[in-house]
Amino acid sequence: MGDKQINEKADLVRELSKTHFDYVFAGFGASASLLLLEMDRRNLLNDSNVLILDPGSPENSDKTFCFWAAEEDPIVENLHSLISHSWSEAKTGNQENCSINPYQYYHIPGKLLYKQACEIIQKNKCQHLRIPVDSIHSDEGGTFVCVGDHQLSARRIFDSRPPVFRQAERNEIHIHQSFVGLVIETENPVFDEKSIHFMDFNISQNGGTQFVYLLPFSAKTALVELTRFSSDVIREEESIEQIKVYINDRFGQFTVNSVERGCIPMSNAEIINQNLPGISLLGSRNYSVKPSTGYAFKNMHRHAVAISDCLTNSNEKGLDALNNEHSKTTRGRFAFYDALLLRILKHNPELGKPIFLKLFGSSKLGEILRFLDEKSSLKAECVIFSRLPYKPFIISLIRQLNGIKWVRPLILAMLTVLLLAIGFVSNWQMYAGYTLFFSGMLLVGIPHGAVDHLLESGKWENKNISGFILRYLLQAFSMALVWYLTPNLALILFLAYSIWHFGQADGQLWGLRRHTATLWGASVIIFILGTHTTETNSILSYMSSLKLPIQCHWMALMPWLLYAIYKQNFSFAITIIWLSLTSFLPLMFAFGLYFIGQHSCTSWVQICRHLNYSHKQVWLQALPFNLAAWLLMAAFFILWPMNKTVLTINPWGIFFMFISCISLPHAFAMQKIYRNKL
Ligand SMILES: Cc1cc2nc3c(=O)[nH]c(=O)nc-3n(C[C@H](O)[C@H](O)[C@H](O)COP(=O)(O)OP(=O)(O)OC[C@H]3O[C@@H](n4cnc5c(N)ncnc54)[C@H](O)[C@@H]3O)c2cc1C
Repeated sequence: MGDKQINEKADLVRELSKTHFDYVFAGFGASASLLLLEMDRRNLLNDSNVLILDPGSPENSDKTFCFWAAEEDPIVENLHSLISHSWSEAKTGNQENCSINPYQYYHIPGKLLYKQACEIIQKNKCQHLRIPVDSIHSDEGGTFVCVGDHQLSARRIFDSRPPVFRQAERNEIHIHQSFVGLVIETENPVFDEKSIHFMDFNISQNGGTQFVYLLPFSAKTALVELTRFSSDVIREEESIEQIKVYINDRFGQFTVNSVERGCIPMSNAEIINQNLPGISLLGSRNYSVKPSTGYAFKNMHRHAVAISDCLTNSNEKGLDALNNEHSKTTRGRFAFYDALLLRILKHNPELGKPIFLKLFGSSKLGEILRFLDEKSSLKAECVIFSRLPYKPFIISLIRQLNGIKWVRPLILAMLTVLLLAIGFVSNWQMYAGYTLFFSGMLLVGIPHGAVDHLLESGKWENKNISGFILRYLLQAFSMALVWYLTPNLALILFLAYSIWHFGQADGQLWGLRRHTATLWGASVIIFILGTHTTETNSILSYMSSLKLPIQCHWMALMPWLLYAIYKQNFSFAITIIWLSLTSFLPLMFAFGLYFIGQHSCTSWVQICRHLNYSHKQVWLQALPFNLAAWLLMAAFFILWPMNKTVLTINPWGIFFMFISCISLPHAFAMQKIYRNKL
């Protein structure tokens, strides 16, 4: 744009800033066009002062919009003049064509949609400026958009600028549906005009889930599109070559009329939005895209109808309520199904092909489309799921549950109650408790501290490993020496760095500030020991001459419970409840539940995320040091100069002294993860 044009636009914006508009559209894409069409249909634009701001040129759009609907659906009636093609049959995978009754599949060329929207703009004398909106605000003075230094105010703003997603949280998945399509004309009549091909998987998967989507417009013309569901985006040149080979092999010679390309987020992550009165969010920005399919058109139309209903009734509150919040879109069973599928597509993209083939191959297409429309019954969904390969969904479900913060505390709470219950009726509590304790130590308790060698650089580095082992042993040996020379000081040190280390891990999990985290670390250790004073002092008597000076009531953690409830941190709250119950279990079980179930598991997840490794990878990497730790423990038991009589009475003293030696270097190593995070 030349200087003259820029100045002209700036002058125009300055002039417009003197006007108070009825409606400002920030973004003029598909959702805004659908809304303009619907508002025009109901004469809501007559005598309205409307401004449309969008830097793009929608008339050049190469998008094709498709959706399935029953013939009597309002979308078909409202948009019938734009529908260029419809199909009553479809096939997926290697299936034969079959009816998609009660639906038809409809096609609207993007260009036609925008053309009609532009005609409406002209007819209603709306102002259309090809400039971007910088930001949108709503305060006591009203609602306005900022363009450069100017504020343009409006009664209502429709914001359909492309969404910006927050970084996916632990239970969210963000992948892409990217595609490149060629609109082609073949030499011979090769296409079956009645039937679309939803997903042809006879194409290389290239480490993602890839398929060809084919829309025949006539016997000789069609859109042939290579689509990829994956964390990475399709490579255009390579894909065009692939499509050309695909077309040549099946349909012979052809010419390319146009190219469609695009990328749709398949995501259940949060969109950064200002949900303010007077601002209506539209399209992708308002979570219209179904995460597992990328279809949005029908949702956007439904939304345009709902907005127009509210405008007709001057229902401002109703309008604001149509803005979707992230929490609304992540609840419910369909959001849950989407999350399961997205997780599989992200972590095991090679399973996409067999799952989709089974999904479409084992039920009627109409039923599947109803399911994807989120209109199916629970019974129908059970039937659909029963025909799918169950293993990937179970793994995905476990991963999904693992990502929900309150699931682990709930399991630990149930385990605590179970141990308490069997303690009342039999002496099986001892067997169950110790079995859990030792298997937990073997699986995660010791291993969580056995990958410290990876924390610095993220990988095993042969040249550094001897130095690392030497440093590690030196720190552990120094601690053993302190135990030998001044046991009381060793005990105080051990308690101090355990408080610090436990506090850091839980603090990061629950988003506590540094000092609050340390206070929590101190509370939990004092609570576990203080609710088992006799057992604690019996162990301490072997380790040093110090005794625990206080005794705690089982409700001593209640202030933390109030804090957790105040912060609406339910996983923290459940943890405090089960920790309180552990005061009725023997000390080693209470300690084991916290150390293994809470501390080690929390650190484990933080380590996996820090290293970007799977659980299996981390466990295997930990294996050499895990084994070494058990051997060292055996050596410690044999070599430590001790009074044999005391050992037979209480071997836990030796156990904790050993744990203190290996956990000192571990606590330092974990600093690399927690540094800057608290
Ligand atoms: C190629 C393609 C094909 C698709 N096909 C289908 C389909 O067949 N069926 C289906 O259901 N869904 C489909 N979708 C998904 C979805 O329907 C579309 O993405 C749809 O365009 C979303 O509408 P929207 O209004 O949210 O965004 P868009 O249509 O992308 O409009 C956003 C507008 O905001 C403008 N803008 C950007 N920055 C600013 C700014 N700062 N200020 C003002 N304006 C700004 C852009 O220029 C753009 O015009 C497709 C998506 C793509 C990409």
